[in-house]
Amino acid sequence: MIKTYPYCDDMQLSPHFNVQEFRCKCGKAHDILVAEELVDKLEILFSKLNCSKIILTSGHRCSMQDRSVGGSGTGQHVNGNAADICCYGQDGQPISSKIVCCTAQDIGFGGIANITKEYIYTHVDVRTSNIWYGDETVNNNTVTKDFYQYFGISKGENTEQEEKMMTMKGIDVSVHNGVIDWNKVKAAGIQFAILRAGYGKVASQKDRKFEENYKNAKAAGIPVGAYWYSYATTVEEAKQEAQVCLEILKGKQFEFPIYFDLEEQKAFSTGKANCSAMIRAFCGELENSGYWAGLYMSRSPFCDYTENDIRTRYALWLAEYGSKLNYSSSVGMWQSSSTGKISGISGNVDLNTAYVDYPTSVKKAGLNGYNSQKVVSPAPLPPTAQSTKPESVNVQIEVNGQKYSGKLNKS
Ligand SMILES: [Zn+2]
Ligand SMILES: [Zn+2]
Repeated sequence: MIKTYPYCDDMQLSPHFNVQEFRCKCGKAHDILVAEELVDKLEILFSKLNCSKIILTSGHRCSMQDRSVGGSGTGQHVNGNAADICCYGQDGQPISSKIVCCTAQDIGFGGIANITKEYIYTHVDVRTSNIWYGDETVNNNTVTKDFYQYFGISKGENTEQEEKMMTMKGIDVSVHNGVIDWNKVKAAGIQFAILRAGYGKVASQKDRKFEENYKNAKAAGIPVGAYWYSYATTVEEAKQEAQVCLEILKGKQFEFPIYFDLEEQKAFSTGKANCSAMIRAFCGELENSGYWAGLYMSRSPFCDYTENDIRTRYALWLAEYGSKLNYSSSVGMWQSSSTGKISGISGNVDLNTAYVDYPTSVKKAGLNGYNSQKVVSPAPLPPTAQSTKPESVNVQIEVNGQKYSGKLNKS
């Protein structure tokens, strides 16, 4: 059903969409038409893509406005059935229109089109007539019956594409990685970094590159967590390590958990009960100080040397090198390689995949140094991405130093 709202109405139509976002951009104060089904489906899209936000560059258009941006004056935007959107992921970057098109197809939008050659913007509508799937960078007619096939994206559970949609790619580094060019790392698509803060129970054992890595990763816009390499063999030593670690973390903010890194054979040889007690001791100290505590272990010793309560109690980061993590319960992060190559880092680097949106949860819960902040929200979009002009002919936006430009019209 198409609803009509007065020009100045600012009703919240759904958790993420306000009627003002659909307002015609012709400049005249006329009513706004919005199909209820359009809003419903946009919400599903928001959730399926795990968006941080969806920006509408065009919603309802009167005939005059539709013609002025190159349309026929009678299209789906004129009926209130359509929206041109840019979907942003949890990392603040636009999600490829290829993925948006496929997901919109799954949801059952009647009309879908990629509208820029950079695959940033997507047209979606809830037309009731024949399905129309287009790609305006090719032409404006129907180009496909199946976007998965058209874009060469495989469908099904746990496909690589789906993982790309729902997960974050990261690295973990220490002094052994040398001097890192964090801007290059960012440009290479790395979305987070876990930094070694130090090791053992003496303050002088702070990682010599920790301060530099923290400062430069943050400056490049890369969210960070930290890990503490443990040499503890007793609960008392684990507590001492936590105290030294806390001193070093002080005054900083971490978007990812702080991990207790347990991998010394000397520790394992003390047995399962003692290893579990050390983990509880270290993580408990961190939690008492307002940190989200986590555990880093290789998959095999993790299965051998931790008691059941540990497995779901802390943020879990498991290492197992290869194409698969052989652990069937839920895990927050997987270290899949120690021989990754990433631009900006010389030599090998550890590669990780995160399955939990830690940055959002950390900030929401006010942990890891975020408790003193009043309002914590994702980085603001560049102003041009939110401007009221994108439906005019040329669009240029800049996201994290990367420029996107293209034409928006017709759809
Ligand atoms: Zn208008
Ligand atoms: Zn459109």
